[in-house]
Amino acid sequence: MSVDLTSEQYEKHREAGEILAEVRDEAAEMVEVGVSHLEVAEWAEDRIRELGGKPAFPVNISIDEEAAHATPSIDDDSTFGEDMVNLDIGVHVDGWLADTAITVDLSGNEDLKDASAEALDAALDTVEAGVQTGEIGAAIEEVIEGYGYNPVVNLTGHGLGHWEQHTTPNIPNRAVSQGVELAAGDVVAIEPFATDGGGKVSEGSEEEIFALEREASIRNRQARQALDQITEEFRTLPFATRWLDTSRAEMALRRLKRNDIVHGYPVLKEDDGCLVSQKEHTVIVTEDGCEVTTR
Ligand code: MN
Ligand code: MN
Repeated sequence: MSVDLTSEQYEKHREAGEILAEVRDEAAEMVEVGVSHLEVAEWAEDRIRELGGKPAFPVNISIDEEAAHATPSIDDDSTFGEDMVNLDIGVHVDGWLADTAITVDLSGNEDLKDASAEALDAALDTVEAGVQTGEIGAAIEEVIEGYGYNPVVNLTGHGLGHWEQHTTPNIPNRAVSQGVELAAGDVVAIEPFATDGGGKVSEGSEEEIFALEREASIRNRQARQALDQITEEFRTLPFATRWLDTSRAEMALRRLKRNDIVHGYPVLKEDDGCLVSQKEHTVIVTEDGCEVTTR
């Protein structure tokens, strides 16, 4: 595939990446035993706005067997313990996106953290115009298995579209025979996950992140207020319950969900209840390599 963006659009991707890299590193510094999840998430989301971007999705704080899609609820009082903490953060500038993740290990499993980080480095080394996505996945799998762990195979990297957090192509976290070829100019997120479990995740029951499913109208006042904010501010990007300005936000969301106007992103958990680490960067593919926008 090949996308032809204007230089101005690539600049917005780069600006988003620059803001994001700074916020990710500062947020990671805040993660310590006893610190509140909500404080870190809201600090990072505010800092993104201060630096001139917008959060592309709620700051994900996934703990231990949680791999993705966990974010603090409105009055969340959870604090960090001796956990494996995955921070996954996104920024957009006028809908042009950057996506990054890092694991902060408070659990004493440094080598599991290193496995996904080194897998990402190996993956980035393979990227250039013409590379098959299966080759990227093979590099990830080889490094993680070399550490004695498994890649999470049903989570993948992805393309980043305008106001679209996940587009084609998928970037697998293992060797696959059918892949697609990347072209110069493609903007993709690569995100290896490593686990000491079997390597698959499933949806749990908790849901704090949602996105618009379809344009519609709804009579209930709070649901209508929420929907107005969603369509104007978040459009098709994911949002958190705690981002809604309306009173009775949880009730409003339940109504929107029941009418299939928004859909949820359940928390994804490792099937064996084992630890998961993650590292992610966004890149622009070039003729002879790639430009990492979130370094
Ligand atoms: Mn991400
Ligand atoms: Mn991603």
